[in-house]
Amino acid sequence: MNVSGESKPLVYDLTYEDWEAWVQNQGQPRYRARQIWEGLYKHLWHRPEDFSTLPKALREALARDFTFSHLTPVKERQSRDGETHKTLFHLPDGAAVETVRMRYVRRRTLCISTQAGCAMGCVFCATGQLGLLRHLTPGEIVEQVLYYARKLRAQGDRVTNIVVMGMGEPLHNYAATLQAMDTLNDPRGFGLGARRITISTVGLAPKIRQLAREGKQYNLAVSLHAADDDLRSALIPVARRYPLADLFDACRAYFQATRRRITFEWTMIRDVNDSPQQAERLARWIREYGLVAHVNVIPLNPTPGYEGRPSPRQRIEAFAAVLEAHGIPCTVRVRRGIDIQAGCGQLAGERLERGKMALHVATGKRVGGRA
Ligand code: SF4
Repeated sequence: MNVSGESKPLVYDLTYEDWEAWVQNQGQPRYRARQIWEGLYKHLWHRPEDFSTLPKALREALARDFTFSHLTPVKERQSRDGETHKTLFHLPDGAAVETVRMRYVRRRTLCISTQAGCAMGCVFCATGQLGLLRHLTPGEIVEQVLYYARKLRAQGDRVTNIVVMGMGEPLHNYAATLQAMDTLNDPRGFGLGARRITISTVGLAPKIRQLAREGKQYNLAVSLHAADDDLRSALIPVARRYPLADLFDACRAYFQATRRRITFEWTMIRDVNDSPQQAERLARWIREYGLVAHVNVIPLNPTPGYEGRPSPRQRIEAFAAVLEAHGIPCTVRVRRGIDIQAGCGQLAGERLERGKMALHVATGKRVGGRA
């Protein structure tokens, strides 16, 4: 019995090398691994009998040795404008996770989860209010993407971007998150470009440095929310362990290793973190550490578990204007899918504890700046 309560391994938990070992154990040539990989990630097959490229004995062995799904969709919601779609999945052990698909003019972006619940405890976030139930396996992360990839393919469409910003702190489940992204990035299968994948973190500095050493081109988004340590620690308890100087140093390491522009996420909470002074301090950090950065600001999605209110429009624009004056591009985001509880953890929170939840899912409108 594995972590998820299933006795057989999930097919998406295996790496390419694992498949090579498995087919050889079955007395088959190594190229069969490639056929399985293509079946799973190019053809999006999800039943052993779909694998028409394999001999019957190997299809039977697949059925015998593996399970093809851990995710059962139990609740689906579509926003009134049809642009945002969200699914709540149950896992075999009863845990629940959410995935959101956002449709933009040219992009089909999935917001995926890496943990059931979250241990970081950000005060304004419903997932944080649930606590951590468990890490997802690599395959459970991948399967969220394949679920929507199949839906989109049926409409003649495809996934163009992934943001790892759903339930959980991806870098707290580092190995599984990285394996999942590498699987989706692998050109032999799903082949989604690394630059179309964004890994979000609340700022686990040592893990950012580790990610910098991986030699990948994934985008990094850091949920900052405050530009001084006291305020940041009040909003994000785990920030006490990683002061801003340490976090910005890690961001610099990531930028130097990848040359990828770093995104800072900022949830605007009225009269808490939305002052022009905070924007000035943020600009100073970015400049001092020599980062090429972009800032996303989004008004708080209020939840019963937190008394803060969203910042008013003028306040947000004044904040953005300070950054712009420093030459730092800033996007004011509009909360999406409010009518379907598209914020991170809202459906799961609804199920576990009716009502609590916040954050994350957004659409962008640039307000000027460089890139
Ligand atoms: S905002 Fe992200 S890191 Fe913070 S508690 Fe919520 S899911 Fe976890």
